[in-house]
Parts: sequence; C-alpha cells; structure tokens
Amino acid sequence: MNESFLKGLQKITEQCLIQENMSRHTTFRAGGPAEYYVRPKRTQIAEILALCKMYGIPWLVIGNGSNLLVGDKGITGLVIELGRETSQMQVKGSVVKAEAGAMLSAVARFAAAHGLTGMEFASGIPGTIGGAVVMNAGAYGGEMKQIVKSVTVLTMEGREQKLSLEELQLGYRHSCIPENGYIVLDTELALNPGDPVKIQEQMEKLRCQRLKKQPLEYASAGSTFKRPEGYFAGKLIEDAGLRGFQVGDAQVSEKHCGFVINRGSATAAELSELIRQIQDKVEANSGVRLETEVRFLGNF
Ligand SMILES: Cc1cc2nc3c(=O)[nH]c(=O)nc-3n(C[C@H](O)[C@H](O)[C@H](O)COP(=O)(O)OP(=O)(O)OC[C@H]3O[C@@H](n4cnc5c(N)ncnc54)[C@H](O)[C@@H]3O)c2cc1C
Repeated sequence: MNESFLKGLQKITEQCLIQENMSRHTTFRAGGPAEYYVRPKRTQIAEILALCKMYGIPWLVIGNGSNLLVGDKGITGLVIELGRETSQMQVKGSVVKAEAGAMLSAVARFAAAHGLTGMEFASGIPGTIGGAVVMNAGAYGGEMKQIVKSVTVLTMEGREQKLSLEELQLGYRHSCIPENGYIVLDTELALNPGDPVKIQEQMEKLRCQRLKKQPLEYASAGSTFKRPEGYFAGKLIEDAGLRGFQVGDAQVSEKHCGFVINRGSATAAELSELIRQIQDKVEANSGVRLETEVRFLGNF
C-alpha cells in the first residue's frame, strides 16, 4: 500500500476504504478486494484523478456494479464509485438532468412524478445513469440512445466536456466513453409530456414482466451475453442443453438461460469458468460464439 497516496486521498474525501471487498459492490456478489475504494462527491473527482496521476495509481469507475464480474484476486489501484454522493436530479420543461450516480429507477420515478414519459423502459434496470450511458442500456424496445440529449464527462486531463448524442457514438451496448477514459458526470434526458397514471401503469407492467421472466431471487449481472445478430443468447444456451448447468455455485438459470446466476457462494473463477464453458458448448452446438455483455474487471 502507498501510504502517501492514501493520506492524499483521505484529505480529499472521507469516503475512502482500503482492501474493500468488491463482492459488496457488485450484483454478482463475487470478486476480491480493491486496493483503494472511494465514493467521491462530483467536485472531488478531478482532484482524485490528479492524485492518481501524481502517484502512478491506476483507477477505474463503477456505478452500481450491476454489469461487472470482478476477479477473485481483486483490483490493483483505485475504484471510484459514482453512486449516492452524485445523484442529484433536476427538471426543466421536458428535460431531466441527472447526475451519474442516480439510479435509473429513481430517475424514472422522478420523470413520472413530473408527468414525463420515455424512461419507463429503463425503470427496472438496476444500474446508475452513468453506467446506463456507458452501456447504452436497453430493454423492452427502448434504449438510452432514444432519450439522451447530452452528457457531461470528465476527461483524463480533469477537464469537463459536454458531449452531444452523436459524439457519444451509442450503439448496441456500446459508447465511446470507455475507449476515451471519460467519466460520466451527468446526463440530460429529452423526455415528452405524458399522463402520469399511464406512465406508472407501464412501469408496473414491465416490473411484473421482469419478476416473471428473470431470476431476480439470485445474484447476477443480468443478461450475461450480448444478443448475437439473428439469434437469442438464451435460446442458443437452452438448445445446447445447458439449462441449469453448474460450475461450483455458478449456474445457468433454470428460469432464464440468458442469465448466469450466483447460487450463493460462487467465486469469480467459477462464474468465469461457467461463462467460458457456455461459450464453447454453444459454439460447438450452433457455430455461434457468444460475446459477453458483462464486463470483466481486475485480476482473475
Ligand atoms: C437483474 C438485472 C437485470 C438487468 N437488466 C438489464 C436490462 O434490461 N438492460 C440492460 O441494458 N442491462 C441490464 N442489466 C445490466 C446493468 O444493470 C446495466 O448494464 C446498467 O446500465 C449498468 O449500470 P451500473 O451503474 O451498474 O454500471 P456498472 O456495472 O457499475 O459499470 C458498467 C460499465 O460502465 C462503467 N461506468 C459506470 N459508471 C460510469 C461513469 N459514471 N463514468 C464512466 N464509466 C462508468 C464501468 O467502468 C463499466 O465499464 C441488468 C442487470 C441485472 C443485475
């Protein structure tokens, strides 16, 4: 551990942890410790990046950890969580501005309370606005690309920059954010006036559909694989005879084959081995190589 770096970090923010187990910060409930872990306020982020640069400490950003598999050997360097400390929301006309750490469910409820429609599709996705922009999260025919107006990012040099929808290059579970090392600070969403009762009804309908179809009673990171063009990942996995297939406590969900679940005490090694075996067996059966939607972080 670098004591001088840690002291510098503690001067910037009190929300600073060491050897913090990432299983506490990922919906997969697996993964080893991050060397350093902070939950900064927006105004502290640039200073933290400058400190990392000064000491040569690698850093990465997470939101709610709902699309991540962190290795059992943990993460070298600093994890910056943008969550509750950066979750303010404002509305101006039909534009909602939300800080990166605001949960999609909270933003959708906020929009609904202001009679704004367009966010219903995302109300059940258990991630932050920042994570959703990075992933261009989508569900039930909607995706972030349809509602994002602009995004303010922090560049690697610690400069704030506003990106338009075009500049974000949003595609299927893709944006230009990771390749540029940007940190999402806030997002403007262009919504439309709507009937609050109808908006609530639609969110409730989608919530019930999720409950019925997805194994929400288990830890997971949602759909493990991207949808291959012309196929459904879950169907390919089922056709390869893998419903319920297990490696240790990691399992292909019996309820929805597109989900790899942690039955309780799965390690990241078991989860990643299961994912690899699914890819191999599906390819052998159908000729299609599944690509992961889940992002792998840290040391395996
Ligand atoms: C039960 C369940 C259901 C799900 N259903 C869906 C669904 O219907 N549709 C869907 O698209 N996804 C779904 N997901 C996956 C996941 O919720 C989404 O991808 C979500 O957008 C990730 O947000 P997050 O805040 O958890 O991001 P994280 O998982 O914390 O991070 C995801 C990526 O974004 C980066 N990142 C996060 N925040 C920032 C930031 N502020 N600045 C820069 N980079 C950042 C991280 O480095 C990482 O690369 C589901 C997951 C679960 C567990």
